Amino acid sequence: MPPHSDLEAVVQAVTSEALRQTVGALFEANGALAAAMPGFVPRPQQRTMAEAVAEALSENETLVVEAGTGVGKTLGYLLPAVASGGKVIVSTGTKNLQDQLFRKDLPVVRGVLRREVDACLLKGRANYLCLYRLKQYADFSAGQGNADAGDVQRIQSWSHRTRDGDIAELASVPEEALVWSRVTSTADNCLGQECPDYSECHVVQARRRAQEADVVVINHHLFCADLALKEEGVGEILPSANAFILDEAHQLPEVATQFFGMSVGSRQLSELARDAIAAQLAEASDQPELRERAQALEYAVRGLRALLGTEGQRGGWDAIAGEEANAGLSAVIEALAVLQAGLEQIAERGKALQALARRAQALHERIELFLEPDDAVIRWYETYQRSFALNLTPLDIAGTFAKHKARYPAAWIFTSATLAIGEDFRHFTAQLGLGQSKTLRLGSPYDFARQACIYRPEGLPAPNAPHYTEAMVRAVRPVIDANPGGTFILFTSHRALQIAAGLLQDLGERPLLVQGSASRRELIERFREAGNAVLLGAQSFWEGVDVQGAALSCVVLDRLPFAAPDDPLLKARAEAITARGGNPFREQHLPRAVIAFKQGIGRLIRDSHDRGVLVLCDPRLGQMSYGRVFLNSLPPAPMVRRIEAVQAFFAASDPVQAEICQ
Ligand code: SF4
Repeated sequence: MPPHSDLEAVVQAVTSEALRQTVGALFEANGALAAAMPGFVPRPQQRTMAEAVAEALSENETLVVEAGTGVGKTLGYLLPAVASGGKVIVSTGTKNLQDQLFRKDLPVVRGVLRREVDACLLKGRANYLCLYRLKQYADFSAGQGNADAGDVQRIQSWSHRTRDGDIAELASVPEEALVWSRVTSTADNCLGQECPDYSECHVVQARRRAQEADVVVINHHLFCADLALKEEGVGEILPSANAFILDEAHQLPEVATQFFGMSVGSRQLSELARDAIAAQLAEASDQPELRERAQALEYAVRGLRALLGTEGQRGGWDAIAGEEANAGLSAVIEALAVLQAGLEQIAERGKALQALARRAQALHERIELFLEPDDAVIRWYETYQRSFALNLTPLDIAGTFAKHKARYPAAWIFTSATLAIGEDFRHFTAQLGLGQSKTLRLGSPYDFARQACIYRPEGLPAPNAPHYTEAMVRAVRPVIDANPGGTFILFTSHRALQIAAGLLQDLGERPLLVQGSASRRELIERFREAGNAVLLGAQSFWEGVDVQGAALSCVVLDRLPFAAPDDPLLKARAEAITARGGNPFREQHLPRAVIAFKQGIGRLIRDSHDRGVLVLCDPRLGQMSYGRVFLNSLPPAPMVRRIEAVQAFFAASDPVQAEICQ
């Protein structure tokens, strides 16, 4: 908030400077952090970040910080935020990072500041057991011989023991098990205050704790749901915050785009039908026609799924909306309307029926929006193995995000290891409408000149040449063989990944781990444990993987990570940029690829003792003018073109890089 008088301005400046100094002192070589953390190494970048965050907090400013790997950005924002007092909301990219921040970093903050910090971890409602739906599902499935009967029993017995109801606690039922969707709630199917289990409800209790806590750790999905005031959000915790800290902020534009849009999935429709059948049995057993209406909806949903083709499609609705697809969609809307009318007729019979009637109405209103033409949104669909989603996504979220942000005049800190293109933050700030916010770019403290080496194989064909992947694997094979540790090969397409997997079957003692053969978490764990494995991963492995030591001592990027040109969202945005006279490649495709590139190469050096080789296969780096933008994003490690130099790097325990590059 701006100061109201000269005196206030003076007080604020003094307070701001005092906080800055106090925070700076924590990061000194003999400061409180060194005393609390054995092995702490003072890093000027971390201290600079903490001081800048302290200043932004004192003055309620917006600050955008790119902090390279190894800066220690979590403590760089967490210590000043907690030291400054007031309520802080920290949002991270994933649930794993939430857990890590809560269980690893917050205890350090408590130790450094030597005081209790009332902190709370809040996840989305799908992460908490719904007591009401558990009872419903257990009754419904009893005696039906469902395959998940064992899981239901395990969940029932755990439900008596758990305090928080966080489904991650029950390791014997994996998080991806289908049963969780039956016994957790959505905004659509939660009965709210009319629920008989409301007073014991884990979702309600978690939100209550969040309202009272000083530090609330959430994730971007929950945060954006709140900001957009979606029903699944917990908007009531936002107004009391003095500071919002958005970590892994490079992911924020995409998550916000999802939440500022609208989506209806076949799962929601089928779940409505299933819940209607269960409620009919429980509350209106003399109304078999309701069951028939629900079954008709399920049938129409399956019909539309069949019309949308194979799984893994993402396309503009207008491109496929021929007569058949539109007829399939109309059939779903018609069946939904019929079910809604049936539910409304008998809604007074019970709470479940009442809630279902409201749910059907809300879904009906949303799905009808899909038929209304609107130039500001992109209408598109995606298909999965047995389901589909219809999405309305805004072309541009800058104005909407800025408007929501303006409702909370607190300090806003956006941080990540990858936000800028060179020194330029405009690609990021423009997407979120952050205007002329303060920015700060802090390089990594690692000694890349000694710790790393960048290898660009010579003679590879253009990446769209027919046998590019075969040539790429031939070039990379001697690197794998020379590396005593593990190699991480990142692909931009699943097709190339599969071709490479076929060509790398003869690795002998080295395990070959291929995305899709096990869960991401399991593959990374096996990779870490093996110490010399080769892991082939596509998009989801380009970020968020943190393997220290020799187990990950080589990262290979098969191509520059440009997004698929036929992605419906990128295509529609590119058309909009062209329409206003802009250059979609410069404004959209290139900056996105550079951020993904920086994420990929950030997997290599994770610690000041790590050593490793980065292999960049794509010859466009040297051949195209835009290759310079990627080359300028590389860490300051020596670049080599001969395989012998790589072999020498791996053979030497502490090589003098300059000699290797001769
Ligand atoms: S209030 Fe909603 S989430 Fe909580 S137990 Fe009831 S239905 Fe489930």
